[in-house]
Amino acid sequence: MHAITVHQPYAWAIAQGGKDVENRAAPIGAQHIGTDIAIHAGRQLLPHGAQDPRIIAAARRAVADGRARTVMGLLDGSDLAFGAIIAVARLVDCHPATDRRGRLCCPAWGEALHGVRQRPAHHLAWTDVRPLPTPVPCRGMQAVPWPLPPAAAATVIAQLNHTER
Ligand SMILES: [Zn+2]
Repeated sequence: MHAITVHQPYAWAIAQGGKDVENRAAPIGAQHIGTDIAIHAGRQLLPHGAQDPRIIAAARRAVADGRARTVMGLLDGSDLAFGAIIAVARLVDCHPATDRRGRLCCPAWGEALHGVRQRPAHHLAWTDVRPLPTPVPCRGMQAVPWPLPPAAAATVIAQLNHTER
């Protein structure tokens, strides 16, 4: 199994908040389309996450549904996992953020540009997101995606099998 490291609170948003698109500057290898990818929460909390209306709305929904204790705990990071695999999701597609006419796809999480250098984004589209009952601690990597160490992969798969619907 491969993994992708995502900064918080956006890793949480994939796992629990309905964030069905990850924005990246480069496309992911075609061999990964259609595979399960582990969602790894990085060690950093992005400060602008707490001001992102999409994150705030997702946090309010999670609290209303009983999937989180408080909105603040998600926004300030005190109720978030860091440095751990928190979910597994199926990667269903990867495509440029804009078509030839410059129209942006994948509202609301799809963005046109990515990163501090504001390079044209690619959208990694997720489906069948399965949050893990217990985060699996693991070091992250910048590569997209990176191979999960066998021991961590075994722990993740055991949790998935245990929670299979
Ligand atoms: Zn898109």
